[in-house]
This record gives sequence, structure tokens and C-alpha cells, in this order.
Amino acid sequence: MPHSHNDPGWLKTYEEYYFHQTSKILQNMVERLRVHTNMTFIWSEISFLSLWYERAHPTLRQQLKDLVTSGRVEIATGGWVMTDEANVHLYAMLDQLIEGHQWLSNVLGVRPESGWSVDPFGHGAAVPYLLHESGLRATVIQRIHYAWKQWLAEQQLGDFMYRQVWDSAGDSDILCHNRPYDIYSIKHSCGPHPQICLGFDFRKVPGEYTEYTIKSVPIDEHNVKKKAELLLEQYGRTGSLYPHNVVLVPIGDDFRYDHASEWDQQYTSYHRLLTHINSDPRYHANVQFGTLKDYFNEVQSRMRDYPTLQGDFFVYSDIFSEGRPAYWSGYYSTRPYWKVLDRQLEASLRAAELLYSWAYAWAVQEGRARVVQLLDKDYDKLVRARRNLALFQHHDAITGTSKAYVMHDYAIKLHEGLHDTLALAGEAAEALLLTPAAMTALDSRAAPLHHLHPDFERSTYERLPRKLPLTIPRDQPRLVVMFNSLAQRRYEVIKVLVSSLDIRVTDEHGQTVPAQINPVWNDTGNGMAILSSQFELLFVADLPPLSIVTYSIHLLSKPNPDLRASVYSNSYAPAPDQNYSPPFETRDVLSGDIQLESDHLKLLFDGTTGMLRSTTNKLSGRVTQTTVRYAAYPSAQFKSGAYLFKPDPNAREPEEDVLAGAKARLFIHSGPVASELSVMFGSVLMHTTRILHVTHQPLASSIYMENVYNLGGRYNSTETPGFPPHFRETEMFMRVMTDIDNGAEPTFYTDQSGLHMQKRVRVQRIGIQGNYFPITSAAMIEDNGPGRRLTLLTDHAAGAAAWQQGWLEVMVERRTFYDDARGMGEGVTDQKRTVGRYWLLVEETRGPEPVARLSLAAHHLTNGLNYPVTQLINEGLNADQLNSGAHLITKPLPCPLHLLTIRTLPEPQYPSLLPSRTALMIFQHQAPSCTTSSSVATCASLADSPFTGTDLTLQVSGMQLTSLTATISRGTLGSLSELHVPPHTLRAVTLTFPQPPPPPPLTEK
Ligand SMILES: [Zn+2]
Repeated sequence: MPHSHNDPGWLKTYEEYYFHQTSKILQNMVERLRVHTNMTFIWSEISFLSLWYERAHPTLRQQLKDLVTSGRVEIATGGWVMTDEANVHLYAMLDQLIEGHQWLSNVLGVRPESGWSVDPFGHGAAVPYLLHESGLRATVIQRIHYAWKQWLAEQQLGDFMYRQVWDSAGDSDILCHNRPYDIYSIKHSCGPHPQICLGFDFRKVPGEYTEYTIKSVPIDEHNVKKKAELLLEQYGRTGSLYPHNVVLVPIGDDFRYDHASEWDQQYTSYHRLLTHINSDPRYHANVQFGTLKDYFNEVQSRMRDYPTLQGDFFVYSDIFSEGRPAYWSGYYSTRPYWKVLDRQLEASLRAAELLYSWAYAWAVQEGRARVVQLLDKDYDKLVRARRNLALFQHHDAITGTSKAYVMHDYAIKLHEGLHDTLALAGEAAEALLLTPAAMTALDSRAAPLHHLHPDFERSTYERLPRKLPLTIPRDQPRLVVMFNSLAQRRYEVIKVLVSSLDIRVTDEHGQTVPAQINPVWNDTGNGMAILSSQFELLFVADLPPLSIVTYSIHLLSKPNPDLRASVYSNSYAPAPDQNYSPPFETRDVLSGDIQLESDHLKLLFDGTTGMLRSTTNKLSGRVTQTTVRYAAYPSAQFKSGAYLFKPDPNAREPEEDVLAGAKARLFIHSGPVASELSVMFGSVLMHTTRILHVTHQPLASSIYMENVYNLGGRYNSTETPGFPPHFRETEMFMRVMTDIDNGAEPTFYTDQSGLHMQKRVRVQRIGIQGNYFPITSAAMIEDNGPGRRLTLLTDHAAGAAAWQQGWLEVMVERRTFYDDARGMGEGVTDQKRTVGRYWLLVEETRGPEPVARLSLAAHHLTNGLNYPVTQLINEGLNADQLNSGAHLITKPLPCPLHLLTIRTLPEPQYPSLLPSRTALMIFQHQAPSCTTSSSVATCASLADSPFTGTDLTLQVSGMQLTSLTATISRGTLGSLSELHVPPHTLRAVTLTFPQPPPPPPLTEK
């Protein structure tokens, strides 16, 4: 099976690879396959294929279509990229698959049937599930722990059914083929002996000297017999690892077949070999060029029943170096700044997709021609943002394992997507909110819809978003427009900066809502001073499902001290002069432990370090030790890097106290909405813990945490005494140490791309590096029997571990100076100031369930963390030009039903340019735990047949149940109430919106 592995970015950028190598590979593929008429090829990365196709001559386009239609070129997986499987969250994983499948369906008229995931560093259960639900029948995996490879080979389990942990019936099973050897190159794919296989790589390019050019000689009539028998022996040994007699032998490597001569060299020699073998019946063998589909056809004609495996293939480990295991658990946490940026684009794109689809369907329905025109014109921006996000799911992108300048290029693309999707969200929200009179006025001037903007600016990706203070005029309120993209009602604490102290906030009905004013601190070099020109406003918003609502900030004519937070600090600067009266009275932090308390929670903090020590649930009276600790593993030089994680076995201390050099500067703000404690350790870390004074669950009993950190900055010695100028070989983690009894061999649970939870049990002898697992959103530990559960929810991908009983930790940042010898050739030293956001929940549980699940409260909070409220401010419209709200659905969906996306599908003839009137709607049933008692105040119901009484506020002319990527129709639905989404599953529906009848023709008078 000839193939070529093309990374859309790694040592070069996506575009550099395309122009230097991949464009030639695709060009040669079409040209040389027409010459070698029995040769085959497979292709996976649609990001590259679409780029080539758009530039190709129509004749070559047709030739490609013919090759695909005839089956000689098989499109494998058909994702935009070969997605990473550890760090990628469900939304983006599906986004890149939809983008690829829609392009293939619209442009080539083809639907992938086989998966090919051969380079991601470990394999999860989410990819097989999504492939199955997208209509693929089988898939291939490659990089798994060498001990598993050995076990699968011994048991002849290399072709098995991949089953989801929650799926006892096997409805989502997909046939999975594990490659038996280390990697997919020819050296490692013809059989067990790399030195023999090297002799079967016939590429000879002038000027290239490699291990195979030395080893291999072309096949001719003199050596064919000897070589054929040598190769057959390798094939036979490979076949012995499976219960059938079919062998799949990939012939390729990274960026292969870029020279036309390689096509001819590989073809000619292999053609001679297989002609020789096939013509001699004594060999009892038949060898042919083929594709994945050919392999699975042969296997399925021989086997009916397959062994079933559940779980996943993390942590990946190779034994390339010195025959000792090297664990690939570093990349789970490498370059967190990019992992956060990725999730910001996911949230922003999702909000833009929902608002765009809603506004577009609404404008068509209402006959708003100018809005339709504006949205038509901007569809390409939505497509570009999808593709920029999709590109970053590649297994060298979100993993952080590309060279620094390539990571820079990815980030520019993510930043462009963020900018465009925010602009689109503003445009669509404005169209939906404008009053008819205002719309008519704008129509008459052909004015753009550019009045709603984010309340922050971010001129470059390298800096964090900076909130801009809102000035509140005396005569009219400032509007804050908020979009809740969830299909459930939610309460959120909204934060904006304002330039006035004395204000009042009202909701869309004009009712005053709870609010709080916090100080904004500024480092004077002589302590921290409170700014008198800007303040942080917190208010509680009650947001209906899939709705846009506007809240108003009013300036009061007299002081409103009730909203102002009480302020305590150990580091505030003295007032500049005696006449100055600061806006907040600041008190000293008293010595001893610090307590923050609400109606539901009592938190105790270490008064010296500002770190949480224990949590009391005031309703049950239960006290749980929750000691937070920051420290770092010193890295083993050259063995810990972008991919690998290995603490230095010779370090003086196994854990280094990275914060020891700085005085902990404490800041406490407490007011009507929230009480929070922030602790600053120079510019290395600011850690904030916040509880809310609200009555609604789960906000009332959950703990919010935020880390702002920077291991890469240059520290001014007066600001941060005791810190080295640069951290080196430092892998900083945040650990929560509890008195939860999760076993002597501690058990914990990590999410699989946000789809479900996977159980993990510590294996002590392989070290901490073999016990770090990837999370994209959640990790939890719980008592073995009835007791407590601790859940940590995160807003970005990271590694997590439960190394000792009662402990749960996440890796926060990694700075490793040296390359870890897995191909990238660099250390990782481009750290930036980064923000990580978390929820910490301590819940009562009746004990572990057979299938671990997050609680309903955790699901609700994780959705809120993943998809923050879109906050927009109005620049240039009068308050009376905007309606106070707009609603897409008439009633919330039941709590477990998460609306993953509504995505306007492209016009098939112009898949990158124009929207169609059909939108894809995807639901996820987030089956909640049955053993935790926590509740969600805004929950409508827990049913899984969701839609009784929930209607869209838009007219729909057609509804189809489809495969996840909308390439297979699975029947017509009369209404959403006919849709059934079983627990844990995803379901997709296409909605077609009616075109209004054209206006009657004008009649002559
Ligand atoms: Zn790769």
C-alpha cells in the first residue's frame, strides 16, 4: 500500500511543506498513477488536497476524480488533518472531520470508508467513535506502547473491535487494525527486521544518501528470486501475528513520492517482485498493490467475529533510545499558551457559527436582503476560521511539537480566526437585535453592521486579551450584549471594566441585578496601588438558552458604596499624599490562616502562601482537606522535551519549590457577588481562588481558580527577588492534596476529548512520567465507597496525574532547554504569560459507578468554561435602536442534552465561498453520574428524548437525521421531538430553511 505521510506543519509551516513538497507529491500522484495502471495510493490530509485541487488545471482535477472513483486512490479518514488524539477537544476534533468530509462530498463526490491514524502519539477512544458515527467501517492505529504491541501480537489481537467504555451493546464498535511494528516507514513495515525491510525501499534520488539508499538495490531479473523470497519471509512473519492470512504492508514514509522518479522506482521494483511471486504457485501467495479498503475487504471476507477491546492507548512509549522506555507524556502539557489559544478560537468559532446560522436563516425568512448579502459576503471568513482551527488539531500543532517559528505561524492563523469570528458574531448579533426602524434606517444608508464589538482588544496573539474600560455617559446607560450559546439557561458572573465607581446594573427587563466593584491594581515598584480611573465590575447575569440579551450599566448621581468590595492586602502602596482619598479603604491581612466564606462554603487558606488548605461544605458540615501546592519537576536534560516527560533522577529534590524565591503578595476582595483571594509570586504566578455569593447551584458551591503564569519572562530583580533570570528544565504543576481514599494504588479518571471519562490506575514502577494522562476538560478522584468526589475542570488541554493517594495534579507549564530526540530538533523556550481557568468541585457521592461519569453540575460548569458568554459592547447605536433580547428556542433543552454546534453548510458548488440554506445541528448526550447528589438550578429535565415542546423560533422546511459529518442521510424527521439521543452518544440533524416566495411581479397600471 503506497502512501505518503504529510504533516501540515512541523519542521516547516503548512504552506512551506505544500509548496516545497506536498504539491509535487499530489501532482505526481495524478500523473504517475495514470502511467502505472495497477498501482494504488492513499491520501488523508484534506488541508493539502484542497489546496492542490484549487490550484490544479481542470484536466488534472478530473483525473484525480477518476482515480478516486475507480478506487485506485483511496481517501483515508478524510479529516482536514490527521488529528492529535490526546489534546483535541470534541468540538475541534469534529470540526476538522466535518470540514474534510464536506469538502470531499461536495468536490470529489466521495465519502471515506477507512480510517488511517498512524502518527498521533498514542490513541484515544474518541477518534474511532467519531469515525464510526461518520459512516467509516474500519480504521488503523500505529503508535501504541511497545508492551501493548507485544501483547496484541502474542494474542493475535491486531484486528479487533474498538468498543466505547459505556457501550455494552457494541452499537458503536468499529473494526480497528493495529500496525504491529514501531512506525509506518518502510524500514518498519515489511516485517519484523528493519535491516531487511530497508532493502525494500527503492527510492534513489540524486544527492540523497540515507540508510536505505545504501541498503537497497533495484529489483532485476537476476536478484528477483532471492529478494522475493526474503520479502515473503517478512510478510509471512507479519501474517503470523494475526489469525487470518492477509497482510497490510505500507510502502512510504514522511513526504515520500515528491519526485516522479520515486514513483517509478518503487513501482518498477515492487511490480517485478509481485509478478514473480504471483506467477509461482509454490509460494502459495498473492501480492497486490492495494488500499486500506482492499485490506479490510479481505479480512472481513475471512473473519466474522473479532475480539473486543475497550479503553484507550495512552501513555505511548517507545524504546528507541538505549532500549529503555521513553514516555510521550510531555506533549500533553507542552506550550499551554497555544492550547489555551486553541480553545479560545473553538469557543469563538462556535458562537459565530450559531449566531451566523441563526441570523442567516432569520434574514432569509424575513426577506432582509441586505443582511443576507452581508452574511453571504462574510461566509468565507467563517470557512477560513474553521480551517485555521482545523489545521491546529494536527498532531504536531496542538501538541506543541513543531519548531518555534512554525508554532508562531499557527498562532497567527488562530489569532486571525479569533478576530474574524468575533467580528462575525457581532455582525450577526446586531442583525438579530436591531429594531425594525433602526434596520430600515441602516438599510437606507447601506450601512455595515459594525456596531457591536468585544469588550477587549488583542492586537497580537502574543499578548493576552486586554479589557477596555467602559465609560458610562450621564444621560444614557451603556449596554452589554451577551450571547448564551448553550441550550440551557445559565447564571454567570460577568466581568467588565468601567471607569466609574457609582453604578447600577439592570437586566433586559429593567430589574437591578447583584453587582460588585473590585479595585484594579497597579504595580508602582513600591507596592501595589489601586487605580482611580478604572474598576472591575462583576454582575450576575441570568441568561436564557440560545439567546442574546442586553444588560444596562447606569451611572448614578450619588455614591453607591454597597457595591464596593472590602479590600485586604499585605502589599499595598501608601497613598501618594495625605489629601488623596483612595476609592477603596485597604486593610492589612492579619497574620494566621485566612478564611473565605459564603452561605455554602468555607475555605481555609495558608496565611503565608495564600494557598487553599481545606474546604467545608456548610450544608453537610463535611470538611475536606484540599491543600493546593505549586512545585516543579526538574527535567532530565535531553530526555524531557516537547514530546517526552522525564524528571531528572539525579536532582537534589524530586520536586523543586519554584515559588520559594518570592514573597507572596496577597489581595483579598470581598463583596456582594464574590469573595476572592489572589496571591502573586513576582511575575511567575498569580493564583486566584474565588467563591460566589449566589444562591443558584452549582455556582454557589463550586470553587473557581485562575492561574496567570510566566516561566519565560525576564525578571527584574527588585520585582522578583530570588528568582533566576530564566527558569531551565522546569515542569511546573498544580496539585490538590486531599484526604480522599481513592485506593492504595490510586485510581483517577480523565476525560477522553470531552466525550466520556476513562479510569486510570497508578503503575508505580514506571515512574510519574508513565502515569501522566491527557485531559482536555476534566479529571476526578473519589472515595472507594460512599464519600466525596473531587473534580477539577480545566479550560485547556493538559497532562494530569494522581501519583499518591488523595492527590490530583495538572501540569501547568513546561520549560525544557534541550531537544528530546524525536525529530523536532529544538527545546521549548517560547513561554508567554498565560491564563489557565479551573473549577474545583467537592461533591458527595455514593461511590464509584461501573462507568465513570461527571456529575450533572460538573457537565454544566465545564460547558460554561468551554463556551464562555460572548460579551459585546455597543459603539455608535442608541440604546433604543436595539431590542432587549432575541431567542432561538422557545424552551431550554433538558440538562444532559448539549448542543455541540449549528453550522451552516456550504453551497455544494462553492464550498469555500457561499452558504447554503441547510444547517447541521449536532447534539451530545452528556450522560451525568447517577451517584452524585449535586444539582443544577436551571435544569429543565433529565430526559433524553428532548424536544417535546422545544421549538426553534425559525421556520424549518426539511429535517434529516444524518451521519455526524452530514454525508449520509438516515431518514426524515417530522420535528425535533422525533429525535432520540441515547446517553453518551452524538446525533446529527440537518435543517433546511425555506426561501420565502418571491414578491409578486409588478403589474403595469
Ligand atoms: Zn506526522
